[in-house]
Amino acid sequence: MANWGALERELEQLKKEGRYRPITVWETGSDTWMNIGGRRVLQMSSNNYLGLTNHPDLKKAAIEAIEQYGVGSGSVRTITGTLHIHDQLEQELAAFKETEAALVFQSGFTTNQGVMTILGADDVVISDELNHASIIDGIRLTKAQRRIYAHRDMDQLEAVLRECGSFAKRVVVTDGVFSMDGDIAPLPAIVELAEKYDAIVFVDDAHASGVLGRNGKGSTDHFGLKGRVHIQVGTLSKAVGAVGGYAAGDQVLKDFLIQKARPFLFSTSAPPAVAATCLAAIRVLRRSESLIGQLWSNATYFRTKVRALGFNTGGSETPIVPVIVGDPAKTMLFSDLLLQQGVFAQGIVFPTVAMDKGRVRFIVTANHTREDLDFAIDALELVGNKIGLLT
Ligand SMILES: *Cc1c(COP(=O)(O)O)cnc(C)c1O
Repeated sequence: MANWGALERELEQLKKEGRYRPITVWETGSDTWMNIGGRRVLQMSSNNYLGLTNHPDLKKAAIEAIEQYGVGSGSVRTITGTLHIHDQLEQELAAFKETEAALVFQSGFTTNQGVMTILGADDVVISDELNHASIIDGIRLTKAQRRIYAHRDMDQLEAVLRECGSFAKRVVVTDGVFSMDGDIAPLPAIVELAEKYDAIVFVDDAHASGVLGRNGKGSTDHFGLKGRVHIQVGTLSKAVGAVGGYAAGDQVLKDFLIQKARPFLFSTSAPPAVAATCLAAIRVLRRSESLIGQLWSNATYFRTKVRALGFNTGGSETPIVPVIVGDPAKTMLFSDLLLQQGVFAQGIVFPTVAMDKGRVRFIVTANHTREDLDFAIDALELVGNKIGLLT
């Protein structure tokens, strides 16, 4: 056996700090109630915002695609891995996003890595400090200069842009909805600054896809900024219910990424059933806004009640509702006690968030009933009192 001493010490350290996270194994599929250890618990942590993982249209599309195309695509997109269903998905995604073009990747994570290919050594990328790990890693793969601005701080963003006039390209990148806080990027202000300082705007709408904007078109649509956000990354893994990611924007962006983006060039394309599932999901979104209406009504109901109990939900303004607890061990205890009460809400601690900003993150979905949400609220009150979070 190899000498794993250093790894073992690091794992011990994580356990000591209450930051060690074992994987939870679920016995049933993604839904509002799921089984764990033979027990049914209320799921308040999935990104299945619209319950589409179980939608009959999506299941049917997946099954039919397997019958028609088989289970795999056979290669990367540029060889045999672009089937009609992949092409059709991209055309309908572009129409949905009201952009010239869209390019699909295997995940939102690899989409961000791929899009960063537009950055060269003469460029600068300017990033919100709370942007997602996949943006941070994508940036690390480039030779561009990096600047970070404080979360949603437009004065700092402007100061950075003012100093960056000599770079060939300036790219401002932000999450559309921030995944750990559930707040929304100030996109109108970012767009105005980008126009003033000749910068490209790149928004990662992973948690806004299917959630924000008309029919879930995302943050650009939500703010009425059509044509002024140059790169819209979306995920097919969260509200859309399957897996994958895409970049929507001008045709020239797509043409460039097809030639240059390494996750696109060197990793096999999505199975046809996944492409077909996503296509069916986009059609469901275009057809109806009722699921999204239900999602937002549930989110507002839940957040209002949780705040009224006296919890700190930070800057949440979306279906992501964090309950800020503080230190990592206490956060994980809070999450464990909630699970004892039958509510699964993930504890999120350092290094995902700051050491003193540990939180239990609730994600409300369209399929939760009012009884479900009340069940979670009652558990929160009980456990909050037990560990002295509510005074
Ligand atoms: C989840 C997430 C991603 C990654 O998307 P996947 O499709 O799950 O790989 C990227 N960016 C943000 C902001 C996310 O929340």
